[in-house]
Amino acid sequence: MRVVDFLLGVAAPLIVIFLTPTVLAARSKLQTGNWLAWTERLSLSTVGWFVGTIALWFMAVGVRRRLRCMSEGSVGISSARAPLGGWVEVGAVSYAGVKWRLRAPRGVPYSVRPASVEAAELEADLPPRCPRCETEVEENPRFWGGYSWSCIRCGFRKHNRDSYYLEASRAERLARRGWEEAARGSPP
Ligand SMILES: [Zn+2]
Repeated sequence: MRVVDFLLGVAAPLIVIFLTPTVLAARSKLQTGNWLAWTERLSLSTVGWFVGTIALWFMAVGVRRRLRCMSEGSVGISSARAPLGGWVEVGAVSYAGVKWRLRAPRGVPYSVRPASVEAAELEADLPPRCPRCETEVEENPRFWGGYSWSCIRCGFRKHNRDSYYLEASRAERLARRGWEEAARGSPP
């Protein structure tokens, strides 16, 4: 949290909350000689307005912060790996309600059969695919948290708590384990 955020979001409302009654009481004491004379005269609607303003303040700061998170969250991290021979598609896995295509480095010379791919080499292709029509899924951050995944071809839509950049690494983990099991099951 940056200093400005802290001052605007936490410190300022707290100062207002504590300072306002103090100032009111002090002025009351100075003018009437009684600490509580002014406080007793405060009507319910004045207190209501005061509390409402503070609540709106907190909400405005929350919305601002959420909007900033959303604009930062939509920047993706792309895979840094670029194998010499390119990628070869070796299968797919279903996870988080969508389909993830799996790829592995083709290697040089270009004669790799999917059976010879090591589990550790597997990567989930991004973006994931629609489970109905295999079109690439579109991701958009949602205001109240999480992400909305949608297919522009068939109208498939789902909400997911985490971004597909994070889910891709989970899909990879599952796929690698499945790959290991399959490799152990098949004769060498
Ligand atoms: Zn679709």
